[in-house]
Amino acid sequence: MIKNSTRSLFLVLSAVFILAACDKQNKSVTADHVQQAQEKFTWKLVTSWPKNFPGLGMAPEKFAKHVNAMSNGRLTVKVYGAGELVPGFEVFDAVSQGTVQMGHSGSYYWKGKIAAAPIFSAIPFGMTATEFNAWLHYGGGMELWQELYKPFGIKPMPGGNSGAQFGGWFKKEINSVADLQGLKMRIPGLAGEVLKNAGAIPVTLTGGEIFSALQSGAIDATEWVGPYNDLAFGFYQTADYYYSSVWHEPGTGLEFLINQQAFDALPADLQAIVEVAANAVNESTLAEYNARNNAALKTLIDEHNVQLRQFPPEVMQALKYHTDALITEQVASDKDFARVWQSYSEFLASMREFNKLTLQAYYENR
Ligand code: CA
Repeated sequence: MIKNSTRSLFLVLSAVFILAACDKQNKSVTADHVQQAQEKFTWKLVTSWPKNFPGLGMAPEKFAKHVNAMSNGRLTVKVYGAGELVPGFEVFDAVSQGTVQMGHSGSYYWKGKIAAAPIFSAIPFGMTATEFNAWLHYGGGMELWQELYKPFGIKPMPGGNSGAQFGGWFKKEINSVADLQGLKMRIPGLAGEVLKNAGAIPVTLTGGEIFSALQSGAIDATEWVGPYNDLAFGFYQTADYYYSSVWHEPGTGLEFLINQQAFDALPADLQAIVEVAANAVNESTLAEYNARNNAALKTLIDEHNVQLRQFPPEVMQALKYHTDALITEQVASDKDFARVWQSYSEFLASMREFNKLTLQAYYENR
């Protein structure tokens, strides 16, 4: 009996001690949370697009809105259009140097620094948006992208997708490869080099510079995105022919660039908010393009008398030939390009087979 009482007392005391210890631990965890919850962060986000431009420019605005709402104002993101804080083509450097915490752009603009970077925006005759997102999240793409940007102190995240882009605007019809000779066309990334090897003269310009270059005759042709964005820039006022052929950007991925140190300085919950907001924007941007391109194309044809065209097979075959040759050259000359290309091309090959059996056949049948 005495023995049992002593044992009960011991158990009770042990329980009290454990509860007290837990309480102490809880208080310190709570104190950490309170401190974290009080700490506020303000980030600057620079972009390569005109401020509030439909689709591209609204993607970072949506991101900022999501982050602000989800963090209850603990992380405020202020978005700057191209040229407001830094020029559109200096977004990468500004994030890398920590001048700003974030950027929104397209990775093919950095091919001068990182030969493999364009693989994370658009490869001519490459993956569609759906295939690209599948590769990024479940095919090893994200890991490769992070490795590539790590030496620059940048953490990349997918930042939207334009879907398949149109072949572009031309002042004269393209009826043969001969019509490409000496043609000055605004076109970025690997596609620019492909066009150069096919005889044209590629020009790199930010979106905001294109219209006046086309109007003044400094360029003969331009690609930009697709009907939704191209209508907004008014290219129909200065070029009659619009080519709907998809070849150079079959599913262009946009990117969020995040300064690694700034990201590491955030508490875990804000880091999660940044990642989730980026993913939400990645999804909704593609949906927006898919929904609005068709209506904009109708407006261009019905209200602005735009002449819709397709490149003839001869031109498409030449572009494919020069794309394959360029990629072979890049694989041979850059180790990182070769490594990323292996993962990308294997995934693309498996998707091509799968889609032949499913969607490709379905599109013909519905
Ligand atoms: Ca484009």
